[in-house]
Amino acid sequence: KSPHDQAVVKQLKQQLQKVFGYSSFREGQLDVMMSALHGRDSLVLMPTGAGKSLCYQLPAISSDGLTVVISPLLSLMQDQVEAMLAMGIPAATLHSGLSSEASMQTLQQLQQQQIKILYVSPERALQPSFIERLQGYSLSFIAIDEAHCISQWGHDFRPEYGQLGQLRQYLPNVPFMALTATADAATQHDILERLQLHNPHCHRSSFDRPNIRYVVQEKYKPLKQVKDYVKKQKGAAGIIYCGSRKKTEEIAESLQQSGIKAAPYHARLEHQLKESTLRQFLRDDIDVVVATIAFGMGINKPNIRYVVHFDIPRSIESYYQETGRAGRDGLPAEAVMLFDPRDAQWIQRMIDEQDNEHRRLVEKQKFSAMQAMAEAQTCRRLVLLNYFNEFTDKECGNCDLCLDPPKRFDALEDAQKALSCVYRVGQQFGIGHIVEVLRGSKNQRVLDLKHDQLSTYGIGKDETHEYWFSVLRQLIHRGFIVQDIRRFAALQLTEAARAVLRGEVTIELAKPRINLTATRNSITD
Ligand code: ADP
Ligand code: ZN
Repeated sequence: KSPHDQAVVKQLKQQLQKVFGYSSFREGQLDVMMSALHGRDSLVLMPTGAGKSLCYQLPAISSDGLTVVISPLLSLMQDQVEAMLAMGIPAATLHSGLSSEASMQTLQQLQQQQIKILYVSPERALQPSFIERLQGYSLSFIAIDEAHCISQWGHDFRPEYGQLGQLRQYLPNVPFMALTATADAATQHDILERLQLHNPHCHRSSFDRPNIRYVVQEKYKPLKQVKDYVKKQKGAAGIIYCGSRKKTEEIAESLQQSGIKAAPYHARLEHQLKESTLRQFLRDDIDVVVATIAFGMGINKPNIRYVVHFDIPRSIESYYQETGRAGRDGLPAEAVMLFDPRDAQWIQRMIDEQDNEHRRLVEKQKFSAMQAMAEAQTCRRLVLLNYFNEFTDKECGNCDLCLDPPKRFDALEDAQKALSCVYRVGQQFGIGHIVEVLRGSKNQRVLDLKHDQLSTYGIGKDETHEYWFSVLRQLIHRGFIVQDIRRFAALQLTEAARAVLRGEVTIELAKPRINLTATRNSITD
């Protein structure tokens, strides 16, 4: 390194200490900062919480000009500006939500070079009058946060973001820094291309979060599963993500009734209520937030001990971001997903019904990767890291499959019981009913249908409800049974089932994964 560089590094370190109160850089930060100060473009891939903001904040205050940060989230901009001001750094924001006086004041301060960091929305960044202004200032660099929003291959494409490449034309000598926490290979490629990053410095942090234990459970009686799970956590902080607003309210209420300090969170709730829920969660007054994906970006709570996915997310990117909110403090945390293959079928249909062909293809691909992770038979972390191109073949030792590898057993006899039961009820009934008949249930429906008189009634009474559920699902999975979606998911035998019924093949199935055997008993112990 040149003597000049050494001096710059020294200065950055001093400011890191003096302004931010941190004693050392985290992995990658210094190199990214130096690139910006050298006028070089960069692409920064760091997982959430790794410290992306510092990568632009620190060089911004240690260079002479103005730094512009483009961010898609108003609330995040506001938070960052407040934090900067509190540290004595002159920062401001411009977006459509401001009063004209506030905007005027900021513009004036900019004119008088009183601002070091300016946060703007992408809409504002693209306004011709604003670009003209920027051309008149001395700019240090432009940082683009959440850069994956640029890409149509990303999971959160925003059209205005897609146009940010235009800035390049008008500000040809200003270096760009693109930052994101989620980008698969296609998205990364798109970011480089759309922003026309020249010979960029690319920093890719490891996306591994070794303290997070990944677990997938069969979704069986989800509400009960979640309740039991939360109770075991003894008041540790957690988030439960689910796919609909209605469910967040129902689950939160049910948890409350069991004496758990829980609250729902979704986009439709009143602003004040959302704010107060967030505040209470941050202060540990609420233990569990039951939320849609609306809850997340910008939550800075280090001691979240678990994230439960009540429903399977639409992409590995979302799954990774959501689970990544757990264990920011580096202490053990857990990500549990409840998986029902029927949910997956339902989501696939929703995706197929979309008109936009491009979106349909993207979403299909992303969801099938997510589904593969849920159905994985090998280390979940391997699937995750490989998805983000962080190739590895070392099993992690801290996911359900590593800790408790699927146990296989000779299931021919039980498969025959299950298949013949499907046949005996006329191939007209869904999983739930088949299980009732197999276990010899005396429920009214079984009696009304006279299914207690079938030869298969009660032949499976030695095994649990969960067990048969799992066996039937696996038989579906393996192509011995299909579910007729048009007729209430009635089970029907396929050709392949005959050979099983005749005992001409062997069948191995996996032991059900319903109880969390791999889990710590309690986090607080
Ligand atoms: P990201 O934007 O990557 O999600 P943030 O920039 O919000 O992450 O940083 C996460 C947390 O880490 C913040 O509280 C930040 O102050 C802290 N942090 C960042 N860099 C350092 C560092 N070098 N030393 C200590 N803490 C840091
Ligand atoms: Zn593993």
